[in-house]
Amino acid sequence: MIAEKPKRKMAAKKPKDPSVVVTTLRYRLKDSSKMNRLDRLARSVNFVWNYCNETSFNAIRNHSKWLSAIDLKNLTSGSAKELGISSVTVQAICEEYAIRRIQFKKRKLRWRASSGTKRSLGWIPFKANSIQAKGDRITYLGHEYKLWLSRPIEGRVLSGSFSQDAQGRWYVNLACEVAKLEHRHQVEEVGIDLGLKTSAVLSDGTVIENRSEFRKLEEKLGKAQRAKKKRQAKKIHAKIKNKRRDFLHQETTKIAKKYHSVFVGDVSGKFVQSGNGKSSTDASIGVIRDLLKYKAIRHSGNCYEVNENSSTVTCSACHNKTGPSGLSGLGVREWTCSECHAHHDDRDVNAAKNILRFGRESLRAAKAA
Ligand SMILES: [Zn+2]
Repeated sequence: MIAEKPKRKMAAKKPKDPSVVVTTLRYRLKDSSKMNRLDRLARSVNFVWNYCNETSFNAIRNHSKWLSAIDLKNLTSGSAKELGISSVTVQAICEEYAIRRIQFKKRKLRWRASSGTKRSLGWIPFKANSIQAKGDRITYLGHEYKLWLSRPIEGRVLSGSFSQDAQGRWYVNLACEVAKLEHRHQVEEVGIDLGLKTSAVLSDGTVIENRSEFRKLEEKLGKAQRAKKKRQAKKIHAKIKNKRRDFLHQETTKIAKKYHSVFVGDVSGKFVQSGNGKSSTDASIGVIRDLLKYKAIRHSGNCYEVNENSSTVTCSACHNKTGPSGLSGLGVREWTCSECHAHHDDRDVNAAKNILRFGRESLRAAKAA
């Protein structure tokens, strides 16, 4: 006999404050010397997770009992010190485990492996009271971690986690409650195509270009590198990075202020296709998207990620797939639709128009469901 699964309990209904918004801020951690420590902590997290998984499964199988987060917390209490993680983190794992088990409707979840080819990416959850954030530093369990402060930490930190990406880099994610800015948008919606040559192209024809001064600085950088002037090169590199960041901040703020709903392409696989392995470019696209999401919400708007497959090959006028496709089509900037004879003088604007339409359609579908 299988016990009845617990329903996900609604959090005690607090009156929702319309003037605040919860947003997740994500920062990359700076000093790699501390990463071993995080790796070690992540192993302890996996240990607790796997314990929850095993114990919970046994309880269902042998006693038809679904252990709640509170049950799991009781079972794991006192283990934190031995594992070298904070007791709040152990509690956070138990809560997350119980939530996920209900969310995925499973009696058992995936094992978190600490090594081997199926190693889980590191993850260390925490509660607001177990960290201190100050300037570009965050303290957890008495250890200070420096962050690449892409934007200031603001608002009230509610909870968070350290997490690792596939390249082994560590990040800290903070769920923060920030004040929404009262704002009136000029335009209801926009679709955005993120690209390599230009930073972004909007469905209304606006083109946001990497400014030419980057090019000048990049030439300087090349010169310094060829002359093996390492210190100078490093300096120029940092300058480019700062300028680009300022530029992206300004542009994304403009977009978030002007348009209420922003639909942005998910840009998956685009770069592999074009054979451009420049990771710096990939990173700046991710940055634009993160900034857009955050700023849209901040300005009382929305930002949606849209599957942009076929957005470049579809005619935005008649919706037939008549555009240039494949590798040979990459160089084609303008084209005429063979079905409806619409002329697209910028294929990225056409793509952005499609992204806008895809976004509208998926929103409508989501509302209907
Ligand atoms: Zn057409």
